[in-house]
Amino acid sequence: MAETETAEERLTAELEAACDADVDTLRELAAAMAEEMKKGLRSEDEAKIKMLISFVHTLPDWNAKGIFYALDVGGTNFRILRVSLGGERSSLEVQDMDRQHIPQDLMKGTSEAFFDFLASSIERFVGKEGKDAVSDSGKRRLGFTFSFPVKQTSVSSGNLIRWTKGFAIKDAVHEEVSGLLQAALDKRRVNMQVTALVNDTVGSLALAHYHDQDTVAAVIIGTGTNAAYVEKTENITKSPGLLTPSGQMVINTEWGNFFSSHLPRTSYDIELDAESLNPNEMAYEKMISGMYLGEIVRRVLLRISQESDEFRQAADMLSRPSILSAPYITAMHQDKSSELKEVERILRDLLQIKDVPLRMRRIVVRVCDAVTRRAGRLGAAGIAGILKKMGREEGNSRSVVAIEGGLYASYKKFREYLKEGLEEILGRDFVARNVVLKITEDGSGLGAALLAAAAAEEVGKKSS
Ligand code: ADP
Ligand code: MG
Repeated sequence: MAETETAEERLTAELEAACDADVDTLRELAAAMAEEMKKGLRSEDEAKIKMLISFVHTLPDWNAKGIFYALDVGGTNFRILRVSLGGERSSLEVQDMDRQHIPQDLMKGTSEAFFDFLASSIERFVGKEGKDAVSDSGKRRLGFTFSFPVKQTSVSSGNLIRWTKGFAIKDAVHEEVSGLLQAALDKRRVNMQVTALVNDTVGSLALAHYHDQDTVAAVIIGTGTNAAYVEKTENITKSPGLLTPSGQMVINTEWGNFFSSHLPRTSYDIELDAESLNPNEMAYEKMISGMYLGEIVRRVLLRISQESDEFRQAADMLSRPSILSAPYITAMHQDKSSELKEVERILRDLLQIKDVPLRMRRIVVRVCDAVTRRAGRLGAAGIAGILKKMGREEGNSRSVVAIEGGLYASYKKFREYLKEGLEEILGRDFVARNVVLKITEDGSGLGAALLAAAAAEEVGKKSS
């Protein structure tokens, strides 16, 4: 058997073995995640996971009224929303929404160009409104969802710790980001005040909690990955004397930077990391999220092309970073046709590999499967780690975990692997009884609008 094994079969089998995280490994990872979370609550300096304080101590209920805006800046897209809140349950209504890609050149340019671009998009968005849209309520209020690690200084301000997800706007690092956006808005005379600065995970948690009070955590799996959850203030030992009316605080874990020797890393992951914009950072994110899945698959296929005659013609195309983005992986992996026609089409049209035999197309599907299965299972370990940290990995309390992001929403097999991994770690019956994985959409932005409304109410209370 071993004598007749082809290079591509050997490399694929090696990949499958290296990516396999059995249930014991997943449990080790969940325990390590919970431990790292504790460390981050003790001190940010030594911790891999920063466990950032969000300044959100009470998740908003449905009492707020008025028109609020949200700007959601992710890693790939940004959205602007106008939301109306009617002061009753289920009275949240999206009145208008605009969604765009973030231009590549702005991701590595100057802070001024980036924030002016955001402000100009908002200017255009509100420009569509009637002239008197906000005449008697004064300034428009904006929740700014900014999906990068920020050290918050208040509910509406915070400093960028570092960029992730391929961003490298150097002069913005350590700057106060809502101030940068506010200055850009003011310069264009847009009548709008940034009243909440939130991480996407926190926004997502706020919206999911608005709909279901048992929501205890929110996870993002889009361009990058991150999670937020509700912690007791007494456990946040790095901020002794932190007092909140609820006794709680939403923590933005920044779990993408999680690292453990139990992570099933391969040579492809190590190379990807070394060539990334942020080497030695975000090891967990780089094994899970949409920005990286295609890159891992590309590196495996490139390796195959170097050792297998049938793929040799593709080595050039496969040397191009980012050519295989996550949506292609989804499409190939979920190709249901018996002849794998979709795989054939993508290999031909995107990578210019012609006449790929079915046997090779199956190899490509196996590579996608190994990488995605690992990603889903690692995501499950993270979620189990958070539940463990909250003491919800056993017992009988209902825990809703909101999950949002382009990768999770669009990739059924990823969702299935994540669910399966969680069931293996925590037990199928336990998960069926106590854990709800709830897929959410636009929660990061809508939640920011809710938090902007809550912040406005707070200011109102204080001044009256
Ligand atoms: P952001 O991360 O910018 O907030 P999203 O949550 O919409 O934005 O996630 C976008 C990311 O989701 C893309 O960069 C891509 O990696 C991933 N994605 C989008 N569509 C698909 C798809 N069909 N299959 C797999 N991943 C996808
Ligand atoms: Mg997002």
